[in-house]
Amino acid sequence: MPTAVITGASSGIGAAFARRLAATGADLVLLARDEARLTANAEQLRAKHGVQVEVLVADLATEEGIAAAERRVAHGVDLVVNNAGFGQRGTFLDTPVAEEVAMLRVHCEAVLRLTHAALPDMVARGGGGVINVSSVAAFFSRGSYAATKAWVLSFSESVAHDVAGNGVRVMALCPGWVRTEFHQRSNMDTSGIPGFMWLDADKLVSAGLRDYARGRSCSVPDARYKVVTGASRLIPRRLSSALSARVGRRYE
Ligand code: NDP
Repeated sequence: MPTAVITGASSGIGAAFARRLAATGADLVLLARDEARLTANAEQLRAKHGVQVEVLVADLATEEGIAAAERRVAHGVDLVVNNAGFGQRGTFLDTPVAEEVAMLRVHCEAVLRLTHAALPDMVARGGGGVINVSSVAAFFSRGSYAATKAWVLSFSESVAHDVAGNGVRVMALCPGWVRTEFHQRSNMDTSGIPGFMWLDADKLVSAGLRDYARGRSCSVPDARYKVVTGASRLIPRRLSSALSARVGRRYE
């Protein structure tokens, strides 16, 4: 059976990846900080799909956590989903620098190091791949969150090119607004986001996995967000960033 490691698997998009991949018969390694939630998710997936599910409790904002994850992805893994992440709880100057650095570690350093740790074994075996969860925010200049997601997109497309021809795939998944715990955790006022722009995590993951199977290096699920990201390339960057700032403000 193929084995997939999913970071940020205790809730939201990561938990949706776990449900979808378990339904296809994949064995799983679920990584996050909340052991109780990971254990509950693992028990449900084992009972429903008869797959093997390991739990790896790790904080990807720490050296120890990233190193433990690196060790786990280095051998015998067919898919790594680098999904763990969180939003900014204020503007750049309102945010303690330690929180900014933690975001860089979780969104960029962990993604880089887990991709670097996983790919050599995959290339040697001629199969497998990595999905790095970026965001539609990657197409806009909006805080260090968007900057980290732009890095994830650029990095993933570049490494996808490097490994093309080895039977190994790397893809950036760029979701728009998805109903998860993300916005509440980052204290975001989502009242300005029109209802029709919200995506369902399970549908998002199915669309992302279809694009991954097709060998895409960047996946923007849903026509609504293909229009948004397409338009972002056509209008001046200052204007697109000003427009994006009008939605998803934070509570004061
Ligand atoms: P959730 O808040 O529902 O899930 C975030 C997950 O990341 C949780 O499992 C959390 O687990 C884990 N996580 C957070 N920090 C760490 C850490 N330091 N170490 C290990 N795990 C961590 O949000 P989403 O499911 O929405 O977010 C998943 C990804 O999708 C993120 O990268 C986010 O940026 C991206 N995204 C989300 C969008 C949305 O609208 N929801 C839009 C575009 C992109 P725990 O707390 O147990 O550690």
